[in-house]
Amino acid sequence: MMKFDVAVVGAGIAGLAAAGRLRISGCRVLLIDKARGPGGRLATRHGVGEIRMDHGCQYLVEGSDDESSILQSDARDDCLGIWRPNCTGSNSMHLDNYPEGDLWHVGVPTMSAIPRSMARDLQVKLKSRVATLKRIDDDWLLLDTDDQPIAQATWVLSAIPSPQAIDLLAPHEFSGLEVMSKATYDPNWTLMVVEPGSTTGEPDVIEPQNGSIAWIVNQKSKPGRPEVDAWVAQATTRWSTDNLELDQAQVIQKLLPEMSAAIGRQVNGETSAHRWRYAFVNDPAGEPSLLDPDRKLAACGDWCLGNRVTHAITSGRAAAQTILRNMK
Ligand SMILES: Cc1cc2nc3c(=O)[nH]c(=O)nc-3n(C[C@H](O)[C@H](O)[C@H](O)COP(=O)(O)OP(=O)(O)OC[C@H]3O[C@@H](n4cnc5c(N)ncnc54)[C@H](O)[C@@H]3O)c2cc1C
Repeated sequence: MMKFDVAVVGAGIAGLAAAGRLRISGCRVLLIDKARGPGGRLATRHGVGEIRMDHGCQYLVEGSDDESSILQSDARDDCLGIWRPNCTGSNSMHLDNYPEGDLWHVGVPTMSAIPRSMARDLQVKLKSRVATLKRIDDDWLLLDTDDQPIAQATWVLSAIPSPQAIDLLAPHEFSGLEVMSKATYDPNWTLMVVEPGSTTGEPDVIEPQNGSIAWIVNQKSKPGRPEVDAWVAQATTRWSTDNLELDQAQVIQKLLPEMSAAIGRQVNGETSAHRWRYAFVNDPAGEPSLLDPDRKLAACGDWCLGNRVTHAITSGRAAAQTILRNMK
């Protein structure tokens, strides 16, 4: 089995940002993710035919400094575009002054183009869930759900949501557990509908003022997407929390009429729903990253600092710096 200096558990934006920094500093680093592709909540999935749906993060606002900058990340410029949705008639106070203020950056042709680009020079092992860590001599052995070894590494950096990180690190009495347990997440149910054609004259973004849906985006308004009505609606935190254990069919049945009412006509097409159990950080832990130098364990993720991609980037980069400082 190959040995690494650092194994990063989770190839979301935090893990990718950390691994990128570690690699350019000369570390042998392996990223491990349970999913089929990198990106985590910055995600895209199949809709219908060639249509892809960004069912997680919808857009990024550039960070305020180098440490949170997505544009200065390892993502290539050609996978980023600026989204200028038409919000006319969207009935939204929040969107009224767009595009004044911060620009909205998106991945092109999909949001997942960003993590794929960040991962291109990194060694990534996908479809592998790290279930357990075991000590062997001075190293860590990372084991999957069948107790099979995935990799051996001197350091383990957890870059997964804090409730999952606690499960992984608590058996080893990670010194950051108390701070980590301060962070909390809200869930989100996301509804997706791909229609057969394209209607003109409708707003690209709708933010209903009341009801179960927080906002609705027509994916065709983003750069590089096909000219087909492909709607993504995020339920409110309240509704998502109250209905967390419903199944997909029940969620579609409840949310589709509300989506149609907000758009102003009956929406018909291929429909699906996705549950994000850990969607948005509610209370962050308040530290850029956590590190236990004696155990050679560290942790990062958006939950350290806030609920945006820029927080995940800052946290990942901070974790890489502290590991590098503590390496002998
Ligand atoms: C619906 C939705 C909309 C959003 N909209 C926006 C937005 O418009 N703008 C914005 O800035 N932010 C938005 N966010 C938040 C943003 O997506 C997150 O803050 C950011 O992507 C978090 O990155 P992360 O790397 O910390 O975590 P994650 O993206 O959660 O990455 C963690 C990774 O770890 C993997 N993993 C977990 N456990 C294991 C394990 N045991 N073994 C191996 N792999 C594991 C997961 O598969 C995942 O890939 C949104 C989030 C959601 C859910």
